Amino acid sequence: MEFTDKVNEFTKKVSDKANDLIEMGKLTAKIHGETADVDALKKKIGEVCFGKYRSGDPLDPEVEKLCAAIEKHKRNIAENERKRERLRKSDPKTVDPAANGVCPYCGEKIAKNGKFCPHCGEKMGE
Ligand SMILES: [Zn+2]
Repeated sequence: MEFTDKVNEFTKKVSDKANDLIEMGKLTAKIHGETADVDALKKKIGEVCFGKYRSGDPLDPEVEKLCAAIEKHKRNIAENERKRERLRKSDPKTVDPAANGVCPYCGEKIAKNGKFCPHCGEKMGE
């Protein structure tokens, strides 16, 4: 093989390799996108099942058990939110919890004296 042929062949190999890398990147992005779609659909399935559970539709016993667990957690959340609200109202230091620049509901940083948390949407203390 002539030297120039060898150089051309080498150049072609390098360019093929680069194209392969680009193609691999595109495929990885597609895989990630579709994996995210699958996760979103699984969540949607969960929401549909939980809706059916709430309206008393018969479900697979395993699904019913999981829905019951969700309800238990929701009750705990509600109870803890009530407890936190009571503490917030009884503690004079936290009359305006937003004043320290942290949302008392989600813990995110917020603008001082803002009326609502931009992260969780909770109304700040009057
Ligand atoms: Zn918040």
